[in-house]
Amino acid sequence: MPGFQVAIDGPAGSGKSTISQKVARKLNWTHIDTGAMYRAVTLKALETGIELSNPDAYRFLETLNICYDKDRIYLENRDVSEDIRSDAVTDNVSLVSSFPYVRDILVKLQRQAAMIGNVVMDGRDIGTVVLPEADLKIFLTANVEERAKRRYAEHLRKGKANPMKKVIDDIKTRDQKDSTRASSPLRMADDAIELDTTYLTVDDVVDKILELIDKKEKEHGD
Ligand code: C5P
Repeated sequence: MPGFQVAIDGPAGSGKSTISQKVARKLNWTHIDTGAMYRAVTLKALETGIELSNPDAYRFLETLNICYDKDRIYLENRDVSEDIRSDAVTDNVSLVSSFPYVRDILVKLQRQAAMIGNVVMDGRDIGTVVLPEADLKIFLTANVEERAKRRYAEHLRKGKANPMKKVIDDIKTRDQKDSTRASSPLRMADDAIELDTTYLTVDDVVDKILELIDKKEKEHGD
């Protein structure tokens, strides 16, 4: 029996993961970052040296052990939480995640993970495909300059200095690929609430989502 499910979707750099993590921590619920799972598959594909554009090259997923636990992601028990943020992974993840075979396997894992209790799950297709019955669906947006500024600051904190122009171009390219692919494109669910975070702080957005959860829980209780 599933618990309370919050689906948080949005484009690259909209703050999904940071915000979802904070909301989950405040409530002591489980957070699942589905982007990290697509990144882990991409890392494995790059390390194995398969031909990334060949959809039949992903059969290794049948036996691959991917595990997401307490905001860390593991590939065959190896913690790859930092490795999945590399430029090589970021540049290829939209291609890897465009294959229906890859998506089917990860969506199954995500649905299983959501069964363990109250969850906040973030990604691109959570409200539309993974958890269409979610109790609350949020679609986070922000203008591209603001999203690039956030990514740039995140890179600097990690000692990486990509030029701003590259960061903007990467975000635009990924948005374009993610929203135009045939299989489960990035799209706001009809019953999602859109929150534009361009001029809001992380804490503002977290508080707003906590309020919405509280309201929904009260409605359910009535
Ligand atoms: O959220 P993050 O930017 O880490 O996601 C990396 C990539 O994984 C996205 O650009 C998208 O191609 C893919 N993704 C997806 N569906 C999800 C989550 C992420 O296709 N539910």
